[in-house]
Amino acid sequence: MTVTLRFCGAARTVTGSSFLFETQQARLLVDCGLFQGPKTLKELNYGPFPFRPADLGAVLLTHAHIDHSGLLPKLVREGFEGRIFATRGTIDLCSYMLPDAGGIQESEVEALNRRNSARGRASVAPIYDKADAVAALTSFQPVEYEQWLDVLPGIRARYWNAGHLLGSASIEIEFLDGGAADRPLRLLVSGDIGPDSKLLENSPAAPMNFDYVLCESTYGDLDRPAISAQSRRQHLAIEVRDAYALGGALLIPAFAVERTQELIVDLLELMQRGEIPTAPIFLDSPLAIRATEVFRQHAEEIAGDIDLAGILRSPHLRFTETVNESKAIEKLTGFHIIVAASGMCDAGRIRHHLKNWLWNRKATVLLVGFQARGTLGRFLVDGVKAVRIQGEEIKVAARIRRIDEYSGHADGPELARWIAARRPIHRGLFLVHGEEDALTGLSERISERILPEAQIFRPILDDVYELATPTPTLLDVSRRRRLSPEAVVSLDWHNDMSKLILDINDEMEQAADDRARGVIIRRLRRALEDRH
Ligand SMILES: [Zn+2]
Repeated sequence: MTVTLRFCGAARTVTGSSFLFETQQARLLVDCGLFQGPKTLKELNYGPFPFRPADLGAVLLTHAHIDHSGLLPKLVREGFEGRIFATRGTIDLCSYMLPDAGGIQESEVEALNRRNSARGRASVAPIYDKADAVAALTSFQPVEYEQWLDVLPGIRARYWNAGHLLGSASIEIEFLDGGAADRPLRLLVSGDIGPDSKLLENSPAAPMNFDYVLCESTYGDLDRPAISAQSRRQHLAIEVRDAYALGGALLIPAFAVERTQELIVDLLELMQRGEIPTAPIFLDSPLAIRATEVFRQHAEEIAGDIDLAGILRSPHLRFTETVNESKAIEKLTGFHIIVAASGMCDAGRIRHHLKNWLWNRKATVLLVGFQARGTLGRFLVDGVKAVRIQGEEIKVAARIRRIDEYSGHADGPELARWIAARRPIHRGLFLVHGEEDALTGLSERISERILPEAQIFRPILDDVYELATPTPTLLDVSRRRRLSPEAVVSLDWHNDMSKLILDINDEMEQAADDRARGVIIRRLRRALEDRH
């Protein structure tokens, strides 16, 4: 018996989660996520899968976030005919999130094609459209938490609450004759793991005693101070009061599900208590509005004592469904709050609000979630002086702030504790779903103290391991890689390039006169010529 594992995504990157397991009898995919961030990664979304979709027997989905589910419509369109197993919460969220993702891709490609035709370039087709997403939904099959499920011949699985998002799961998988004598090969895929205490979620749960564990590492290098509901609200109150003092809009790019609902609960409560000034809060995201409805339907699974229905009736909260309503907010001046997706500012309505406000000193942008490298949100966190949105250069004069308390991810110590609680881990721990610093941070935190260093692996995109051997064996796949390992690990040159151009523009503008500008140009020219 052989069991191979191909890391089709989230390997030295934080997006595109996707893992392919192959035995002689069956092929199983866990997650089928969209790549986000650097252009080189995003281009993978348009290319072929590193397997034939029609050969797959089934998909197990950990949760609804697009970096885990976003390529499912493409998988189905390209011939996958099996079932996609997911919890009911995940299915309900996907039924809004996938068509929304299809819609975003249609409209982005439309805008790109307008620019392309103006420049005489060929037009491109979206990865998939809304209709593909709706079609993919019929392949979903609900599963219950903590109940064994026969997935494919010789493979069974069990879902455990990962405490990250409504419906989110860590998935326990057994390959019935892949292990040592008379024992199945046991494996756990973490999915995304939530922090220990969170407003709307239970703490993560999972069993122990595995041959292999695949663990996410998003915040592996972060050690967050302990968060209480009170300290989180205090921190938010300070940011809101500062934004109010500046007198412009407070833009909060937020993931449409869960973070948004938590934020709104806190904002309304702070207003009610008089701790922040009363002002309209625009929830400018049809998806977030629908996701809020899903949360209401799943109220009994949601931890805590939150009156979502009551909160939704607050006169301060305004829902903007249509594009016209959304555009109408742009005319507002003075302090108001806009919550819009996406959380990393790489898509969605937040982008036109940023275009409208980023240049304005009175505005504040408050980033509340993880910002992957190469996304607009990450550029803002890194303090760039100008950004490009829809082909236009926009200066960044707004105050850029960030708070981590609304994160849906465990931090380094919480991840380490989660890993420790899964022991014994007999053969190997694969650290996935993290950027370099996060992987290194988590690896250092756990090596020797929790697991011997030799048992910790940091796979690269498209690595394939044989798992049925006593220790995992890396197979030679050099001819089947989509990107060179160096390209995966190093930051995208497109990003470096746009940063460089922005810095040059900035230097030119700040130069005293045309003479000084001439000097800068001559020096740059010389640097280029030195290369030859
Ligand atoms: Zn997630």
